[in-house]
Amino acid sequence: MAEIVVAEAALAAALAVASVTEAAEADLVVALATEAAEEEAVEDSETVEVVAVVADVELPEVVAVAALPALREVRRPLSKHRHEGVFIARGKEDMLATRSMAPGVAVYGEKRITVDSPAPVVENGETAAATKVEYRVWNPFRSKIAAGILGGLQDIYMKPGSKVLYLGAASGTSVSHVADIVGPTGTVYAVEFSHRSGRDLINMATHRTNVIPIVEDARHPLKYRMLVGMVDCIFADVAQPDQARIVGLNAGLFLKVGGGIVISIKANCIDSTAAPEAVFAQEVAKLREMGIKPKEQLTLEPFERDHAMVVGVYERGAK
Ligand code: SAM
Repeated sequence: MAEIVVAEAALAAALAVASVTEAAEADLVVALATEAAEEEAVEDSETVEVVAVVADVELPEVVAVAALPALREVRRPLSKHRHEGVFIARGKEDMLATRSMAPGVAVYGEKRITVDSPAPVVENGETAAATKVEYRVWNPFRSKIAAGILGGLQDIYMKPGSKVLYLGAASGTSVSHVADIVGPTGTVYAVEFSHRSGRDLINMATHRTNVIPIVEDARHPLKYRMLVGMVDCIFADVAQPDQARIVGLNAGLFLKVGGGIVISIKANCIDSTAAPEAVFAQEVAKLREMGIKPKEQLTLEPFERDHAMVVGVYERGAK
């Protein structure tokens, strides 16, 4: 029992995410970034994650292994973030979280938090059995949307019920959180052209019926027009020099008038010789040419170096 209590304290320390600009929390940010990097580098992410937790508080290995179930499912109070569908797990440090569309299943070794949902009152006045709801911690070092939210984005143009076209889905890490946000009444059309990543994406989608995986090149949206409906939001993270053009093509076909565009721009993928700020300005100008009116721009530091996130509204035909 004492071992589990110690392990939960370790978890609280290792999971810290929010308020990263506070110098006092820098160590925790480093711990999380290290964990993310190690998970990516080693196939057996479960093992690495436990090592990371152990390393953070210098627990003996035997304690961490014995306490693994406690590390995976702990109880924490949850509150709503101002972006609908996003939650804040309150603890010693706050963390972003989304309500899992597929309870019991982790997508990338992320921590899960189980809470009792209020017992609903049924027709005859009796109270039904309380059910459990699962939330998944959203790591901003693994997801640019989470980094943007922590950076203070005013609008993400996705909420429960939204239709989102996600360009550059990779293996579905961030897509899974977007699927959690839009929930059972929303849809995520997730486009990825790498067949290798596409396999993982399809596998993730088997647990999330609101994700339509599309293994195609986003430069050729006509190839998938039969699969995609009109959307409220396009999120783009293809890390390509012609990303602005790709977004424009897809917006013209699929984005509702007044719909939102959220784009992650990686400066050195566009021009590795120019200053990042110059690249961002040039990309914003290209977006304007394609009828996208920028509303917000922010850096994704400290989670991603030399990345900006631009959010805009599509004004169809305004070229
Ligand atoms: N958004 C992902 C996440 O947070 O998990 C990471 C995306 S990664 C930076 C960029 C992805 O875009 C890669 O998986 C790459 O294969 C994909 N990609 C690049 N160009 C593409 C294109 N033209 N069409 C579709 N996918 C593309």
